[in-house]
Amino acid sequence: MIRTDRIVIVGAGLGALYAALELAPRPVLMISPEALGDGASSAWAQGGVAAAMAASDSPEAHATDTVKAGAGTVDAEVAAMVTRVARDHILDLTSLGTPFDRDDKGGYVMSREAAHSAARVVRVQGDQAGKQIMETLIAALRDTPSVQVIEGALATRLESEGDRVTGVWITSAHTPSGEVLIEAPAVLLAGGGSGGLYAHTTNPPRIRGQVIGMAARAGALMADPEFVQFHPTGFDIGEDPAPLATEALRGEGAVLINKAGERFMLNVHPDAELAPRDIVARAIFAETQAGNRPMLDTCAALGARVLTMFPSVAETCARAGIDPVADPIPVAVAAHYHMGGIAANQAGRTSLGGLWVCGEASSTGLHGANRLASNGLLEALVYARNAAGDIAGTLPLTEAAPVTIRFPDGGSTPDPDAVADLRQTMTTHVGVRRTATGLKTALATIARLEADHAHDPSFLNMTSTATLIAAAALAREESRGGHWRDDFPNANPDLAHRTLIHLPDALAIRAAAAKDTA
Ligand SMILES: Cc1cc2nc3c(=O)[nH]c(=O)nc-3n(C[C@H](O)[C@H](O)[C@H](O)COP(=O)(O)OP(=O)(O)OC[C@H]3O[C@@H](n4cnc5c(N)ncnc54)[C@H](O)[C@@H]3O)c2cc1C
Repeated sequence: MIRTDRIVIVGAGLGALYAALELAPRPVLMISPEALGDGASSAWAQGGVAAAMAASDSPEAHATDTVKAGAGTVDAEVAAMVTRVARDHILDLTSLGTPFDRDDKGGYVMSREAAHSAARVVRVQGDQAGKQIMETLIAALRDTPSVQVIEGALATRLESEGDRVTGVWITSAHTPSGEVLIEAPAVLLAGGGSGGLYAHTTNPPRIRGQVIGMAARAGALMADPEFVQFHPTGFDIGEDPAPLATEALRGEGAVLINKAGERFMLNVHPDAELAPRDIVARAIFAETQAGNRPMLDTCAALGARVLTMFPSVAETCARAGIDPVADPIPVAVAAHYHMGGIAANQAGRTSLGGLWVCGEASSTGLHGANRLASNGLLEALVYARNAAGDIAGTLPLTEAAPVTIRFPDGGSTPDPDAVADLRQTMTTHVGVRRTATGLKTALATIARLEADHAHDPSFLNMTSTATLIAAAALAREESRGGHWRDDFPNANPDLAHRTLIHLPDALAIRAAAAKDTA
């Protein structure tokens, strides 16, 4: 066991880096499974950050769009707070050196994305926002001696006394090893979302709900786990994870067609390709299921500009042998963003003492049942700062020596076949379209996999999060935002509220479902 006065941050994405910088000069220990900057969704973000930067726009309009997209369960106070401070965060990222795209007059170039009433997404070199913001923060972090980064380590579980978290167990991220307990005065979870729990996902392989599961297993309150956002336009080229064709392409006028050349979104929603994400995702899913081969056609709208404006998309096309200047891009739905997660108040506090959360691992009430495009990075920034401020306010300013870790022998890594089984189960039964029968089958499978691999804490973290998603989806007998039930296709106004749930409640739903399917 190691005892430190450093604040432990689990994860190394946008939320973690920004919080560590905010906490300086307070000593921080950051747990990064990969080399700093690798393996985080943040570095893969293409669109940018939503913020009302234009003179013609306002935080109020941004908040209104956020509430509307969230389909009745957004916390309006949270939306007002986040959109109000968005501008400050963009200015701060700019002063740190982020090279946001600017126009001739020095104004920020804004992209238009679905369900935004204005062009409101600041971007970097077209589709390089995540990569560039992360590089800027990593450079700043390298100049911040108060932050110690442990690379190649993975958190497996939390240590608590009563309702207070006192530390984190970590293990080697790449080779089987025993665990080491780090006792710390405060733990900030910034371990990202759960998209990788699905076989079809845009998320990096490490992003499999582990941190959410770990907090649930420690007794933290969870919120809205059933609300998962599926991105309509993952590249359908057989890669895992599926590369993303950013929504900004549709903002620039790219259209969705099927193999017959029909623009099918025209019959689905007045905003056509720029309808809310869940609606576009279900339409694409339907085309795929019907064998109609949905595709994103950038040719007329962008021509050769697609190659320079969207370098990530161009690179993926080149790898897959697609010429986006002349040919449409095959697309399919992929799990993309988890609106649910560890319940957090506006200071990033969880229900457990000593434990804070920020970024996609949290559920703050900002996204409701459906995240407004490019509000994810924004939420990570705002809550990283809020949590850092709150932690700093509760702890005296101390110094702390660097920590040295040696992992003991032993341990295990998750069985790849079990992980594959879990991911396929989630895609098949807990995906874009859900039914009671499918969700019960999923819960029974998750229970079986968990029982067979109960010795592996990382796998238990994944099955815990999967259980929360499927159980809450079974309990919510309506369709709302990203949660669609074929057997309850309408929204029920009585259910227009957030889900608050502890893991034992989800396990009880799972046990009852397993009985039904036995
Ligand atoms: C392809 C793609 C494109 C996107 N585009 C946009 C966009 O344009 N705009 C937008 O707003 N949002 C976008 N999003 C969503 C956004 O990127 C994420 O919501 C946001 O980056 C989350 O930041 P985070 O810091 O919470 O998590 P992440 O950036 O995912 O970082 C999580 C970190 O935790 C680590 N970790 C995971 N498990 C453990 C563990 N057990 N122990 C220790 N560390 C762990 C990971 O290795 C990683 O370092 C996109 C997401 C994807 C996948």
